[in-house]
Amino acid sequence: MAEERLVSWKDDLDVYTKVDQYLYHMRLSDETLQEVSKRFRKEMEKGLGADSHPTASVKMLPTFVRSTPDGTEDGDFLALDLGGTNFRVLRVRVTDNGLQKVEMENQIYAIPEDIMRGSGTQLFDHIAECLANFMDKLQIKNKKLPLGFTFSFPCHQTKLDESYLVSWTKGFKSSGVEGRDVVSLIRKAIQRRGDFDIDIVAVVNDTVGTMMTCGYDDQNCEIGLIVGTGTNACYMEEMRYIDTVEGDEGRMCINMEWGAFGDDGVLDDIRTEFDREIDMGSLNPGKQLFEKMISGMYMGELVRLILVKMAKEEMLFGGKLSPELLTTGRFETKDVSDIEGEKDGIKKALEVLTRLGLQPSQEDCVATHRICQIVSTRSANLCAATLAAVLRRIKENKGEGRLRSTIGVDGSVYKKHPHFAKRLHKTVRRLVPDCDVRFLRSEDGSGKGAAMVTAVAYRLADQHRA
Ligand code: BGC
Ligand code: MG
Repeated sequence: MAEERLVSWKDDLDVYTKVDQYLYHMRLSDETLQEVSKRFRKEMEKGLGADSHPTASVKMLPTFVRSTPDGTEDGDFLALDLGGTNFRVLRVRVTDNGLQKVEMENQIYAIPEDIMRGSGTQLFDHIAECLANFMDKLQIKNKKLPLGFTFSFPCHQTKLDESYLVSWTKGFKSSGVEGRDVVSLIRKAIQRRGDFDIDIVAVVNDTVGTMMTCGYDDQNCEIGLIVGTGTNACYMEEMRYIDTVEGDEGRMCINMEWGAFGDDGVLDDIRTEFDREIDMGSLNPGKQLFEKMISGMYMGELVRLILVKMAKEEMLFGGKLSPELLTTGRFETKDVSDIEGEKDGIKKALEVLTRLGLQPSQEDCVATHRICQIVSTRSANLCAATLAAVLRRIKENKGEGRLRSTIGVDGSVYKKHPHFAKRLHKTVRRLVPDCDVRFLRSEDGSGKGAAMVTAVAYRLADQHRA
């Protein structure tokens, strides 16, 4: 028995070597990661600069969020959360004791695919309808409550409550919305119904909401990170370096939109044929190229494309394919998590591959496990490389010796993949050894965060009126 296991370990090693060689270009050395980090740093500067901003692919969008909550906010707020795994409507009750003890009701609503990819009017009518339904249930339709909108897409913001969609990402492609102010689109949809009224105070990106909720617990929190359906990060930048907004005093949160890193070709030497294939089959070819190497919407699909190619080259499944394996989306990111979650990964791989109509050998299962590891590790490492650039930037801005910084994080990949977080943390610390980084999981950042930004804005407006 012991002998048998020894033999199979050696076999496993052979399989690993075979897969590792095949996916050589997906295994990034620290040297390459530092190079990616350096390139990203250049992109950040391009996005911030007045002259270079128009053509920059990493947009570095000002958010008009300048301060975190001070704890004196209070009131009842509504929040919408659109752009992650679920569409949600929330009521958040903020008291002077802080958001920690707030009550929060929330309801998930489905957004059918035909609405995600239909007309903008349809989409915003649907959002207004969900809001009406929620207010009915809570019996608050007669109140005009302040609302914060977490809208997790790149937006050109001119103030807190004016936000023009630059372009759809992830699974959305609703017509007639790009270039429009999403606040006025919601307002119009609500007016069309005429059965309730609402005061839309703020639009925030999910990264910003995440940073804000974590900022409540930790004053050092100055970065927000999402690795979920999509990926992106925000951080607090010095106003004097933000050419695209007037004023030099203090800091402002910048929504980097790092998913678009590489859209101008700067990552072409690192992208593989699988990355190109994912891109060509996507809703937004040529866009969000960095995101497509990383986020949950694409991770499972990357693994599937690798399996297909290896099978075609008779390196897997005895050269056999199945209709399911050939179908887009059948290998999910959740499958990657499950397979890597098992101790030896083999049992789960067997289950998943069998579900796909294959008859995998032991070796096929070991290989699949290895492919999952390589794809998800690359994802974590790439995030670490860009985070390292952000940390270095903040460190230089502050001019301190050692930087102590906290990163608020949310997203299904970060939270649900069994090893992603650990690998990300490790690589960041290796790439920037002169920073003490704390990673803080945000509890419901994208929903709560919008309410928090709204609460702060409301308090400030109140002080103005007083
Ligand atoms: C969007 C970002 C968002 C990220 C995470 C990306 O596709 O462009 O605005 O923050 O996904 O949800
Ligand atoms: Mg979210």
